[in-house]
Amino acid sequence: MTKLIDTFGRAHRDMRVSLTDRCNLRCTYCMPHDFAAWMPSADLLTTDELITIIKVAVEEGIDQIRLTGGEPMLRPDIVEIVSRISSIDNAPKLSMTTNGLALAKLAKPLVDAGLKRINISLDTLDRDVFKKMTYRDRIDDVFAGIKAAKEAGLTPVKINTVLMRGINDGEAISLLKWALAEGLNLRFIEQMPLDAGGIWDRTQLITADEIFTTLGTEFDLTPVPDRGSAPAEEFYVNGGPATVGVIGSVTRSFCGSCDRVRLTSDGQIRNCLFSMAETDLRSILRSDISDGEKIESIRKMFHSTVAAKLPGHGINDPSFIQPNRPMSAIGG
Ligand code: SAM
Ligand code: SF4
Repeated sequence: MTKLIDTFGRAHRDMRVSLTDRCNLRCTYCMPHDFAAWMPSADLLTTDELITIIKVAVEEGIDQIRLTGGEPMLRPDIVEIVSRISSIDNAPKLSMTTNGLALAKLAKPLVDAGLKRINISLDTLDRDVFKKMTYRDRIDDVFAGIKAAKEAGLTPVKINTVLMRGINDGEAISLLKWALAEGLNLRFIEQMPLDAGGIWDRTQLITADEIFTTLGTEFDLTPVPDRGSAPAEEFYVNGGPATVGVIGSVTRSFCGSCDRVRLTSDGQIRNCLFSMAETDLRSILRSDISDGEKIESIRKMFHSTVAAKLPGHGINDPSFIQPNRPMSAIGG
């Protein structure tokens, strides 16, 4: 039973753990192509520090952990991190969100180390569009990564897709046909105002409703009941069993059932992607107090952070301000 319950009664069981803010792609909705404002390496949590925090979170009731970033597989000891999290008492269910570039090499070792599920981000099936959207010519590495993930047993592999107007929005139907043929679980994500370049423009947003309409011209979609705290609304395609998901973060927000907290790679906990405040656990870990006192302070910080959670992200309020940290530095 989780002890992390906020003032609105939401029970927190899921922690998104960012392992680095660095990335080997430059998805335009995430960071500018010349982005280089990385955190200093000394600010990043060491693996020992990370495991200490995760153990406390698990003791307080977190039972699902998703590793993310930046690109989590840029962390040189990623397999060791997965293995150490999997060895914790009451080990949480462990998943990862990745751009897939290193999966051809790492899928099998990661599964052997305890990874259970994977989300791979891919916005297009077209090499030129991929290059335009990521500033790198690496679509073949993503396809190889998807194949390796399937072979390693990380099924069903989920694919995350962000549609951008005039760039890849014409691919919604072909992406779903491809995903169905490949046995992949595709999910479209509405673009959120979290990019480092500040290019988000509400008037250009491809909304969940627009995605439903487009997919509806080709497929019969029936809602899958019992969404729980999942961000994606899932639909059976042509009667199922295959499904497609739509994450309407902006226009169909799911804050009322949010069960997530976030740990940044520099050791800050956040109660929301859009939070303006964060709680510094790294300074506690690097202070002179005893190990026992550190753990008790971290425990208290988890509770105070969850207690301070607002009812919703407020993107649609006129007073909304984009957080200082971009998605890549929070952990998507
Ligand atoms: N690098 C990994 C990847 O791309 O999967 C993990 C980190 S990335 C920040 C996690 C997810 O956030 C990806 O699926 C990506 O498409 C999504 N994402 C990034 N920026 C976004 C934005 N502004 N709006 C919506 N989703 C975004
Ligand atoms: Fe990198 Fe992921 Fe951001 Fe793309 S979405 S730039 S792969 S962190």
